[in-house]
Amino acid sequence: MAGHIPEDKITEIRHALDIVEVIAESVVLKKSGKNFSGLCPFHAEKTPSFTVSPDKQIYHCFGCGAGGDIFSFVMKRDGVGFGEALRSLAARGGVEIPERSLSPRAQRQMSEKATLFELNRLAADFFRQALLQQAAGKPAMDYLTRRGVTRQSIDQFGLGYAPKGWDFLLGHIGRKKFAPGLLEKAGLAIPRREGSGFYDRFRDRIIFPIHDESARVVGFGGRVLDNSTPKYLNSPETLVYTKRRVLYGLDRAKDACRTAGSVFIVEGYLDLIALHQNGVNHAVATLGTALTPEQIRMLTRYAGRMVLVYDSDEAGIRSARRCIDLFWKEHVDFRRGDVYCEERADTHILVLPEGHDPDSFLMAYGVDAFRRLAQNAPGVITFLMEQAVQQHGLSTEGKIRIVSELQPYLSAINDSVARALYVKQLAERIGLDETAILERIKTRAKPMAAPGLGVQAPAAAGRRSAGTHEQVEQQVIAMMLQFPEMIPEIVKSNALEYVSLPLLKSAGESILRHRFQSPEQLPELLANIEEGALKETLVALAMTDESWTHKGCSAFLRRFMETRQKQVSGPSMQAAIEAAEREHNEAEVMRLLNEKQKMAVRREKQKMSALRQK
Ligand SMILES: [Zn+2]
Repeated sequence: MAGHIPEDKITEIRHALDIVEVIAESVVLKKSGKNFSGLCPFHAEKTPSFTVSPDKQIYHCFGCGAGGDIFSFVMKRDGVGFGEALRSLAARGGVEIPERSLSPRAQRQMSEKATLFELNRLAADFFRQALLQQAAGKPAMDYLTRRGVTRQSIDQFGLGYAPKGWDFLLGHIGRKKFAPGLLEKAGLAIPRREGSGFYDRFRDRIIFPIHDESARVVGFGGRVLDNSTPKYLNSPETLVYTKRRVLYGLDRAKDACRTAGSVFIVEGYLDLIALHQNGVNHAVATLGTALTPEQIRMLTRYAGRMVLVYDSDEAGIRSARRCIDLFWKEHVDFRRGDVYCEERADTHILVLPEGHDPDSFLMAYGVDAFRRLAQNAPGVITFLMEQAVQQHGLSTEGKIRIVSELQPYLSAINDSVARALYVKQLAERIGLDETAILERIKTRAKPMAAPGLGVQAPAAAGRRSAGTHEQVEQQVIAMMLQFPEMIPEIVKSNALEYVSLPLLKSAGESILRHRFQSPEQLPELLANIEEGALKETLVALAMTDESWTHKGCSAFLRRFMETRQKQVSGPSMQAAIEAAEREHNEAEVMRLLNEKQKMAVRREKQKMSALRQK
């Protein structure tokens, strides 16, 4: 998976760096026993479930299941591929990676990216000079002053002006010996429809350079000075500008977000600048497009509390709702079906009074009024409740609609206390009996069990012979990882055959494939497995610490084989299926049916081979 980077370089990097040090740059870690723990940077939480093991050089979050080695961490944190993570870690660890180990295609891309960054930088400079030093830029400067943008903000955000005309930028860049075709690739020039040549994309507009997280210019937004349309024009996507991965202002806001533990998400350039100007530095802007899962993930690395700021008009409310659904889905995905309520409570919706956007609101009422509003911004469920009440009213039909609209959200809350509180709140708000609402929520089938590895708390992972089906299977694979002396016995008894969860089974198989013999080999094992569920599963299993003994393991294995062999044959199987059906546990029914099917095939095979031997 390392592509063109030699294996020994990967090992060298691993040895040069300590995972605890690297992670401590972005997560506050506290020593706890042999490990370190902190608040997970990949999901919002209030009690630390993110654990780093210096011995094993792995990290694992018992909350969301994220986990891996030092490379996985950097990939996930920075949203980059393996190659890029490796290169940044190499630089950090002082390990030199020969450039020629890049594929020719990667080399071309690297140099093209570097060229586009350079072009963007030059263009940003050009626009800036045009705003500050030319008479032509005066109307733009006047406009910014009228909008209350200070000189300091103009400097900080690098605002500029694209002069009126068709080829000012082209001419300027051309003098620097860049081909016009490159300017097109940077999204700054457009080919002429007739004849040959190009013209400037941005003309007679105020320019807002858009930076990535590392403060490199990746694109531009241009605003007209009058009321002509389009009001805003943005760069197209380019090799260096992927819109769903960029948030305006994040490069300037990230430290403040970390300090404040929260972030404001607004829509426009001027909204964001107004907030920063008023000392609210933990704010970013989506630039008019809907928030993306990638952007949410980026933000969760810096802040636990997110306040989405919207205008009170219909469009504002619509985007708020779209956004809530996205957050909902994102957190559900993140937690593999396991939804925790505290997180939801940490997403707030701030709808500004009629007719205001953040910029105009700050101008009219000042920053203290804004902070007060923000403090009282309702959480997602409360917001949805109020919206539903406004939309449907409190007639009998209205109440029915309100309850069914909120039902999926309420049902998805796993925390029973939080759910009860919200149900109470809703009951009081619409004047309905709590039990009626609870009834309604219960009728919905329980969400399916999380696939693969469930949330495995350290305490629950203690060695118990009587665990759930899944826990017992986890024990088998954890044993292979932590006490590989048992692997020959596991192979001999064919125990992996009886592991029914696919992810756990492939974890076991990859351990065998790697000829795993000692826990020390864990880093190499992980380095050979691609990022994803399998790797996270292995890490989760390796993370638990158990005091294995050969005797205990043998006894456990024997019990495992006995129960499984009994379970999959005879009347107990049928009984188990019926029991699961009675409980409407569809996941378990499916699993058992699958098991039964496999068992039948196995028995058939045994019969055949017995026949052949006769
Ligand atoms: Zn987590």
